[in-house]
Formats: sequence, structure tokens, C-alpha cells
Amino acid sequence: MHCARIRTALSARLDGEELPPGLTDRRLDCHLSGCADCRHWQARARALTADIGRAAAHTERDTASVDALLAGLRSRAALD
Ligand SMILES: [Zn+2]
Repeated sequence: MHCARIRTALSARLDGEELPPGLTDRRLDCHLSGCADCRHWQARARALTADIGRAAAHTERDTASVDALLAGLRSRAALD
């Protein structure tokens, strides 16, 4: 199981979206228990999601800028 696929699913789970086909909560948690990199990634993604929630509260009327912020944060998170 590639970490990239796991992280896509973790991101979906954090957003309350459906998991990609073939992945389950159990599978994610099983991978996390054996992969420190993905555990760190999830912790960071969770912190980003909290930041985005705060930013969204401040820019409620401007959803386009929230989307841009989200895309920027996500691509930064994916790069490192
Ligand atoms: Zn991993």
C-alpha cells in the first residue's frame, strides 16, 4: 500500500468525505500504526484543517479565497 494513496484517503476522512474505493477506516488505521511518516502527515493535515476552519470563519463571504487557501495548503503538505 502506497503512502500517497493512504494520505489521499486520510485527507478525505479528515474532510468527512467518503474514502476511496478499496480503503476502509480499519485499513487506514492499520497503516498508520505501522507508518510513522503517515502519522506525522495526518497530524499536520489535521492542524491545517483546523487552520482552514478558522480562516473560513473569517472569510465566510468569500469562498473562492478559502478554496485557493485550501489548495495552497494541501499542495504544500503534499510536497514535504
Ligand atoms: Zn505511510
